[in-house]
Amino acid sequence: SPVLVWFREDLRLGDNPALAAAIATGAPLVPFFILDEQSDGMRPLGGASRWWLHHSLVSLREDLRQRGADLLVLRGAARMIVERLVGALSPQAVVWNRRYEAAGIAIDSDVKSDLKAAGVHAESHNGALLYEPWTVKSGAGNPMKVFTPFWKAAQATGAPTAPLRTPTEIPGASVDASAIGGLEISDLALLPTHPDWAGGLRETWTPGEAGAQARLRFFVADELKGYGDGRNRPDQAHTSRLSPFLRFGEISPRQIWATATKAVETGRSKAPASDLTKLKSELGWREFAYHLLFHNPDLARTNFQRKFDSFPWRSHAGELEAWKRGRTGYPVVDAGMRQLWRTGWMHNRVRMITASFLIKHLLIDWREGEAWFWDTLVDADPANNAASWQWVAGSGADAAPYFRIFNPILQGERFDPDGAYVRRFVPELAKMPASHIHAPWTAPAAMLASAGIRLGETYPSPIVPHDEARARALAALASISDAH
Ligand code: FAD
Repeated sequence: SPVLVWFREDLRLGDNPALAAAIATGAPLVPFFILDEQSDGMRPLGGASRWWLHHSLVSLREDLRQRGADLLVLRGAARMIVERLVGALSPQAVVWNRRYEAAGIAIDSDVKSDLKAAGVHAESHNGALLYEPWTVKSGAGNPMKVFTPFWKAAQATGAPTAPLRTPTEIPGASVDASAIGGLEISDLALLPTHPDWAGGLRETWTPGEAGAQARLRFFVADELKGYGDGRNRPDQAHTSRLSPFLRFGEISPRQIWATATKAVETGRSKAPASDLTKLKSELGWREFAYHLLFHNPDLARTNFQRKFDSFPWRSHAGELEAWKRGRTGYPVVDAGMRQLWRTGWMHNRVRMITASFLIKHLLIDWREGEAWFWDTLVDADPANNAASWQWVAGSGADAAPYFRIFNPILQGERFDPDGAYVRRFVPELAKMPASHIHAPWTAPAAMLASAGIRLGETYPSPIVPHDEARARALAALASISDAH
């Protein structure tokens, strides 16, 4: 009887422990995917993630077909669907790689007990993390709350294991897909229709395992050198842009770790060891975010530091909209928000600047920003997004202190010194000289005129003056600090 392989956020064949374990049984396999928008607590995917998922599933199914299997695509509440599959296919086992957000964990544990009751072997593996969240503990045996000791403790448990090879053959069981609710990927209706806003995404990305491996190889050979400093520069290509592939598991952190390490050791990458260590520590931040999410399931909704529950957030639909559309009048903020809208991705430095602007300059609740990023990022991740927003808000575990308020002008001047990033995403400012591009309202009238800019008409004036916004944010913070 067959073994069922349940693909979820591990849409790859290489370094896939559940798939490898299934192949090792020698049984014919039934790989399947369920789009579950019905089970309790499942957060619906955002638009950009749905676009990505569609293409990622197409790619996975093609890769499976080339090796002798197929992907059964289903939709509905996962527990019921697995029950249906078990009834129809009488498998000897169901295997999967673990997930770490609360609703997924609850479903998986229900499915596991159903399978046990039905006498079907159930097996789960670690396909997503370098270190399982429960294996890293403080000296007193508690979950960790500060990154540096977390990362030290994690690494002290041992080096990440080597990635598994990509199977060359995958024995597929023959199943009558339509008799058990099998769908076409297009039936999942994951792509936008009217309007089709995905043009910029199509130009920017090649979702799927092959795209991930190609990106990794290019990054390691060409861009890793200089990563340590270059990763802060949105005008340069120094980061891996592997985040959406990691989100849907088209690549594993073990593969990135091993490939980058080997390239540096063998000299194929000219990057010094310090760049490699920095890359590993960024992967460590991802591990930390998953550790926080696992131990704080409500991370996307509840302030980690509860004193922020009484923070005097403002509600201002117009300003929120200006932020989303990249029309705040602060060029680096607007460039970031437009990069996000157009490409489904934003550089990390600019994510910090734009998030800080929403939270501190506009005093709008970080959860509004988290939700917008969730909808528009191709890498929208339940752990990284929530943990990072709380980090910027100052309400998080190991957070930037709230009183550290990014100055969007100075940040722009420091990290986009020639204004190339701004010019790329805010074409209205394309002709603005670098000297004033991050604060066009300070430019002499003649400079604005020759750059063809009419502030308030062709490009907005700042929606809030920086100094006033800063003072207001500090006063808001004082109001909750006094209360505690
Ligand atoms: P690289 O610099 O090449 O790093 C390699 C990998 O390490 C990344 O792909 C990512 O998995 C991980 N990583 C890097 N930086 C961080 C970080 N600060 N925190 C956690 N993991 C990190 N990342 C997401 O993957 N999904 C999100 O939804 C997300 N939302 C964010 C929201 C805000 C407000 C902020 C400030 C950051 C957010 N990040 C998120 C973290 C970070 O911005 C992205 O992981 C990074 O920009 C991805 O680009 P990259 O793959 O080129 O990164």
